[in-house]
Amino acid sequence: MNLRILGAHGNEAKGSRLTSLLLDDVLAVDAGGLTASLTLAEQEKIRAVLLSHHHFDHTRDLVTLGFNAALWDGRVKVYALRETLDVVIPCLLDGKIYANLREYPSKERATLQFETIEPYKEKDIEGYRVLALPVKHSVPTVGYHIASPRGGKLFYTSDTGPGLAECWRHVSPDLVICESFLPDSMTERAGRVGHLSPRLLKEELVQFRQLKGYLPRVIVIHLALSHEREVGQEIARIAGELEGDISLGCEDMEVAL
Ligand SMILES: [Zn+2]
Ligand SMILES: [Zn+2]
Repeated sequence: MNLRILGAHGNEAKGSRLTSLLLDDVLAVDAGGLTASLTLAEQEKIRAVLLSHHHFDHTRDLVTLGFNAALWDGRVKVYALRETLDVVIPCLLDGKIYANLREYPSKERATLQFETIEPYKEKDIEGYRVLALPVKHSVPTVGYHIASPRGGKLFYTSDTGPGLAECWRHVSPDLVICESFLPDSMTERAGRVGHLSPRLLKEELVQFRQLKGYLPRVIVIHLALSHEREVGQEIARIAGELEGDISLGCEDMEVAL
């Protein structure tokens, strides 16, 4: 599996993009900075998008992808929880703010095609084995454990607060992509609003190692621009304490699994 981190941030300014991953050029996971990161030729290769939850920093470029795909008469499958689609479709895609992407360019040949996913039920999506697992965020959210037909397994937590032990029981990743949106000085707030600080992340990773007997490589994304330096220093510290391969992700970073 080849992973490309398209967007590694939870907010946006020049040089940063909103959260989005791309696997083997064909499977996107969240769509915050999706089209902003890719040429049209690269976008044309995308077969499916998995959405973790409805927040704008994870869904925004679904609008522009759906619009662009009409250029090559494309079809992109969009997978998400029912609760996520129930927000994303009426708020972003039904024609109020842009094209009606449920019926664009026509009702018969819409570029975006929606399918609900159910937690704990593994599903074959474009040859990938995909397992959606609920995480503890402020709105219904799933992380995704994804095994590539080309080899390699990753678990993407999406936005989450503490309490990943139930997820850890169901996964066996080579790589964990997780978040640490706020620094240790804001740990109480992070937990309250469904995010992690490095200190909270360390507790989750200690539990992972206790349950699974190993610690995979960990890449931390969904960074907050104003706190990135501080979080980076704290992540480096917990990497040392856990003697693990734990580091910050960044835009356009590629990882081979
Ligand atoms: Zn987010
Ligand atoms: Zn969120």
